[in-house]
Amino acid sequence: MLSPAQEYEYTYTFFTNSSMPGDWFFSHVSGSGGSSIKNIDGKLPVNEEVFHTPGNALELGYTNAAGGKWTAVIFRPQIRGIDVFRDSEYLSLWLYLKSEMESQMASQALFEIQLMMRDSSLTEGFRLPLMSTNQWLRVLVPLDDFQTGDDKDYPGDVIAIVFSQNSNTNTGAHTVFVDDVEFLPNGSAEAVSLAPVIISAKGYAMHVDLSWDKITDQNVHLVKIYRAEDGGDYKEVGIQQPYINRYADFTGETGKTYAYKISFLNGDYQETELSSPITVSTKPMTNDQLLTMVQEACFRYYWEGAEAISGMARENIPGRHNMIATGASGFGIMALIAGTERQFITRKEAVTRFIKILDFLEEADRFHGVYGHFMSGITGKVEPFFGNRDNGADLVETAFLIQGLLAARQYFSGDNENEKMIRKKITAIWENVEWDWFRKEPDSKYLYWHWSPDQAWVINHRLIGWNETMIVYLLAISSPTHGVPAEMYYSGWASQDKTAQDYRSSWGQSKDGSMYTNGRTYYAVPLDVGVNNGGPLFFTHYSYMGCDPHFITDKYTNYFKNNKAIAMINYNYCMANPKNYKGYGEDGWGLTASDGPFDYSADEPVEWQDHGKLTPTGAIGSFPYTPEESMKALKNYYYNYGRFLWGEYGFRDAFDLTENWCSEIYMGLNQAPQAVMIENYRTGLIWELFMQNDEVREGLRKVQEAGSR
Ligand code: CA
Repeated sequence: MLSPAQEYEYTYTFFTNSSMPGDWFFSHVSGSGGSSIKNIDGKLPVNEEVFHTPGNALELGYTNAAGGKWTAVIFRPQIRGIDVFRDSEYLSLWLYLKSEMESQMASQALFEIQLMMRDSSLTEGFRLPLMSTNQWLRVLVPLDDFQTGDDKDYPGDVIAIVFSQNSNTNTGAHTVFVDDVEFLPNGSAEAVSLAPVIISAKGYAMHVDLSWDKITDQNVHLVKIYRAEDGGDYKEVGIQQPYINRYADFTGETGKTYAYKISFLNGDYQETELSSPITVSTKPMTNDQLLTMVQEACFRYYWEGAEAISGMARENIPGRHNMIATGASGFGIMALIAGTERQFITRKEAVTRFIKILDFLEEADRFHGVYGHFMSGITGKVEPFFGNRDNGADLVETAFLIQGLLAARQYFSGDNENEKMIRKKITAIWENVEWDWFRKEPDSKYLYWHWSPDQAWVINHRLIGWNETMIVYLLAISSPTHGVPAEMYYSGWASQDKTAQDYRSSWGQSKDGSMYTNGRTYYAVPLDVGVNNGGPLFFTHYSYMGCDPHFITDKYTNYFKNNKAIAMINYNYCMANPKNYKGYGEDGWGLTASDGPFDYSADEPVEWQDHGKLTPTGAIGSFPYTPEESMKALKNYYYNYGRFLWGEYGFRDAFDLTENWCSEIYMGLNQAPQAVMIENYRTGLIWELFMQNDEVREGLRKVQEAGSR
């Protein structure tokens, strides 16, 4: 396991809350020989009435039969970038034994606990002791007691907690609630000395945004949120992790007045006193206000959610705290501009942030002027998060960054020292990028994605369109210092050589579009250019957040028209819903790359690449192409699914109603396209800024000229 220095150490957590009602996706139960356990399609039920931390706990409703056996497995959700952990010395969990019997009798029916290792082996069992009934009690087990074995990587090799029947007697039916299952470093935690204070509360249509100061006290394990309605009693409504100083409470009701308080919990769940209350109301919102709301929440990912030293964007939140992603930061730069223009921050605040970002970029690792995919925000060194071969330059990520920087160079047009300095620094970074080096050979038709300082062209990935990387060729052709011939647009990017055909057929698993051009009609929409049905929607976003597709016309199509066609194919496919997934339809569409219940995947409107998850940025990032269809999705996602889908940084990455799963993360590549493409839809601002760059206009002219030869 990677353990980069100075990374935030997460608690190794199996269960705190289920974001989805119903059943817990990361569980599996079974019963035999007359023993059974309550379940929903083989998974544990989630109970919202009895919980230790709000809003829910897992319910173990089981029947012990003599000679029978039931088992419940709770898997640890594996989240990208949550891969560095605190010391783990104890298993801590909270149990509520619900029973009318006296404790001694009831306790005889309790189960045993084992750890499941990565190779599916189980440790020794721990038999639960005598417990009092009808109250939450903590069980703390030293991990040594499980005898996991010396050859195991710890805690990373523990993949699940297993509960099972341990008495061979007929003790009937019982109910035990389980909550807050985690590994902790100590059997007892230090007290929290910080006093909780809510600094702001803002009401929206169906949710309230609360914020507090960044938490500096390391003993804060969780933040607990309380809400009172109509002057009534305060109820516990949610918890937040200590590294996010904000909470979005989705109440689901408009025009209501609420009062909120918060408290801090330490590792033993001892609670500080509650904060002073703050009062706030939800209110009806117009479509225009909804758009601003989504933009502001997505903008916040790159503002409050940024890595502190570099000011750049994290790959995902939660995830690595100190690692930043280059392309996501370029997208974030455009979201910061949109946010400044919409006055989420002042221009002065934006200037300070951009100077921080540019100071960092001047010192960060560069290879022939090109940045790596991931870097430490603290040191600026490349982090080979995707493996040791990816330890150098990433031309595509760098192009996404430069796209953002060139928009910023036009935005900061002020005649003052700071804004002049911003322009000068951006120009130096842009002119330093050696696009021509990435031809690999002087007469190469193609640009190459990666270069490693010690392994050179080991990844050997040619950039061949059409996909999300068009901006690389456009910028390389536009570069005033290290430009490549405009002919490479046709000989490389849009190549019809066999190499390019094979490449496209292999990723598309289809001959459609293997010549770059397509010409077929999908779901009643003719498609000029694109592999297969046009691909995932991020193809229509990443290169076109700054570069206005209205102005990109080659021999084969205009890219606003082509992107719109791809968005409509995606929409029509989801309406047709050939795999009959839950939630697909006129207001549930947008297949693209995102987190998934089983894996990250780039979903697209073909059956073999449609896994049943919907990704908000798919529909919302397409606003300029499909305003009505995108607005329907936005409203559906907020009003109907906001309870699990809406959070501090806008919509969570993806959800799958068929699997009853919602992502826990927000992704740097997926939040900004929503903020930026909504802005392009509303005012065209980011497009206009980027297109003001003389070098880009000249580059596009050369591409057109090359096409007419
Ligand atoms: Ca809970």
